[in-house]
Amino acid sequence: MPDKPALTVDLHSHSTVSDGVLTPDAVARRAFERGVTLWSLTDHDEVSGQSLARQTAESLGMGYLGGVEISVTWAGQTVHIVGLGIDTDHPELTDGLRATRAGRADRARRIGDNLAALGMPGAFEGVLSFAGNPELISRTHFARYLVQAGFCPTVQSVFDRYLSDDGPAHEPMQWAKLEAAVQWIHSAGGVAVIAHPGRYHYTPVQFSAFFDAFKDLGGEAIEVVTGSHAPHQYGKYAQVARDYGFMASSGSDFHSPTESRHDLGSMPALPADLVPVWSRLV
Ligand code: AMP
Ligand code: MN
Ligand code: MN
Ligand code: MN
Repeated sequence: MPDKPALTVDLHSHSTVSDGVLTPDAVARRAFERGVTLWSLTDHDEVSGQSLARQTAESLGMGYLGGVEISVTWAGQTVHIVGLGIDTDHPELTDGLRATRAGRADRARRIGDNLAALGMPGAFEGVLSFAGNPELISRTHFARYLVQAGFCPTVQSVFDRYLSDDGPAHEPMQWAKLEAAVQWIHSAGGVAVIAHPGRYHYTPVQFSAFFDAFKDLGGEAIEVVTGSHAPHQYGKYAQVARDYGFMASSGSDFHSPTESRHDLGSMPALPADLVPVWSRLV
């Protein structure tokens, strides 16, 4: 008998509940059609898509892990902590996420003001039709609006010119504290995962302190293979996983069929010596 095929895992993706363009059930169907056998929808700061995601995945016979991607401020910068295998109705988690989402609407007004001052009026009003969830207006929605309004050619170019963390229209936020995010995930029975570490702009000393702090809080895992890393970064974060004893995670960070660098289910395998985070969860 041939070996059972290895799991095709995708544990990082977005729907219209945050800044993706497909509904949770459409992301589920796309993942399934692309051969994913274990999937997680990890919308930013919000779990209201989870029951539809799980229901659709289970009706297709695809494995599902409850997921979320929490916005955190650590040492003055934004980092993302993914929670996997969570009970998505747990009140400590849902209360924490509600508090984390608060302030996004005011921030969106300020971003709209910044864009108007840069010669792009109407963005706050325009962005509302791009946000599927009024509690979750993100920079990605502004980027889509600016492309549609003809101010920029692509979503990526909006970030490069205006909305990256040091861009002229960006409005910094105080997101959740690292210890709170890890605590919410743990109280909901999940494992905490550092998302796309290669995107952060810490110094080497800050990176070590960040990994130490996460480990001390009981954080379990780190994304090694992600659509948000360039392939040359996989080895670097595989080594971080070994050095700190973190389990490793993998996901496309899919947002859209046209914007995302990687589609669902398209990531290469993790280095074979790492402990996959799903070994603890399935
Ligand atoms: P927000 O939570 O509103 O600050 O938006 C963060 C989202 O914007 C991320 O989840 C990404 O989808 C997107 N994003 C942030 N920085 C960049 C960047 N430099 N290039 C492309 N997309 C980005
Ligand atoms: Mn996003
Ligand atoms: Mn992220
Ligand atoms: Mn993401």
